[in-house]
Amino acid sequence: MKISFPYMGTVIIYKKVLELLGHDVLVAPRPSQKTLDLGVKHSPEFACFPFKTIMGTYIEACEMGADTLITSGGHGPCRAGFYGEIHKRVLKALGHKFDFIVFDSYARDKEKFIRNIKKIKGNNSWLKVIKAIRFTYQMLKEIDRFDKWIAKNRAYEQITGSVNQAWDEIQKMFDLAHTKKELKEAIINSEKLISAIPLKEVQERNKVRIGIVGEIYVVMEASINMEIEKILGELGCEVERSHYLSDWVDHNMLPSFLKRSHEEEILKKGEPFIEIEIGGHAKQTVGHIVDFKERGFDGIIHLMPFGCLPELISQSVIPKMSAQYEIPVFTLSLDEQTGQANNKTRIEAFIDLIKNKKLSNHQFSA
Ligand code: SF4
Repeated sequence: MKISFPYMGTVIIYKKVLELLGHDVLVAPRPSQKTLDLGVKHSPEFACFPFKTIMGTYIEACEMGADTLITSGGHGPCRAGFYGEIHKRVLKALGHKFDFIVFDSYARDKEKFIRNIKKIKGNNSWLKVIKAIRFTYQMLKEIDRFDKWIAKNRAYEQITGSVNQAWDEIQKMFDLAHTKKELKEAIINSEKLISAIPLKEVQERNKVRIGIVGEIYVVMEASINMEIEKILGELGCEVERSHYLSDWVDHNMLPSFLKRSHEEEILKKGEPFIEIEIGGHAKQTVGHIVDFKERGFDGIIHLMPFGCLPELISQSVIPKMSAQYEIPVFTLSLDEQTGQANNKTRIEAFIDLIKNKKLSNHQFSA
C-alpha cells in the first residue's frame, strides 16, 4: 500500500503512525497554487474552500502514486459528512484507482472505526498497533506543546527568524524519531533549542494576546491561512489557536472512558450562543471566543472558509458576543482568491486598534 492523506498541520504525525506500522507513506506536497487550481477545477463550484484544497491534494497524491487515501469523516449537518463520497467519485471519474479509508468518530460508528483500524493494521500484531498509537500520541502531545510555545514566543524573538528556524528544526528532530529513546532525545534537544533563543523582556501589560478561532482546516493549515500565526507574531502578538490535533484526537478518537477532552468544556461555553449541533466547528468557535476572553486575551481572529455554512452561522452571532464580552473580533473569509496584501493590511489595522485601546486604558488608569 502507498498511503497518503490530506495535508493539514503537523503532517509528520500521520506519517509517523503509518510508518511505524510498516506502510509506504507518501506525503503530498504542502498546498500550493497548483493544488488550489487542481482542486477548484475538479470540485463542484458550490463546495467549501477546504473541500477544494483537499481535492487538489488528493489529485497530487494520486499522481505521485498513492493507492490508498486516509481521511477523517465529518459529523453533523455540514458538508464534511459527504466529503469522502464526493472526493471518491471525482477521483474515480478522473481515472484514479485507490482504496479510500474514512475514519469517523469512534463514538459515531464503533464497528466501522475498528474495521478501518484493521485495514491499517495489516499483518501487524495488535500489540504493535497499540505501541505505534501510544508512541505517536505521546509525540503529538509534545509537538503541540512546542507548537504553542512557538506561537506564543515568536513575538518576543530578538533575532528575526530565530523562532521559526527552531520550529523547523524541532519538526525535523521529531520526524526522525522512531523509538522511545529517540523521542526522548528529540524532546530534550528541542527544549535546549528553545531555551537558547534570546527573547525580549516585555512587561505583562504591554503583551497582546490573540486567539484564532474558526473552521479546523483553515485554522490549522498555515499554507492556506496566509501563515497568519507568523504574521501576528511579526506584529508582536502572542497567538493561540482554537484547534490542535491532540485536542481533536482526544475528542474524536478516544473512547469515552479514556477521554480527557477540553472540548466538552468549550462546547458548554458556546451553548448560550449556538444551542444545537450545527456541524463543522461553529459551536467550538463561539465557545473558544468565551474561553479566550475569560483567559485574558485581547482580541480574536475568526477564520471562515468561503462557502462554509456552520461558520456563517457563528459569524452571525459574533457581533453580539463581541459587544457582550467586550472583546474585538475580526472575521476573515478565506478562499482561493484570497489577496494576501489586502488581508495583511486589514490584520495590521485590527492589531493597531487593539494596541491603541490597551494604551489608552493604561493611560486612563495611570
Ligand atoms: S465546516 Fe465548513 S468548511 Fe468545513 S467541511 Fe463543513 S462546510 Fe466545509
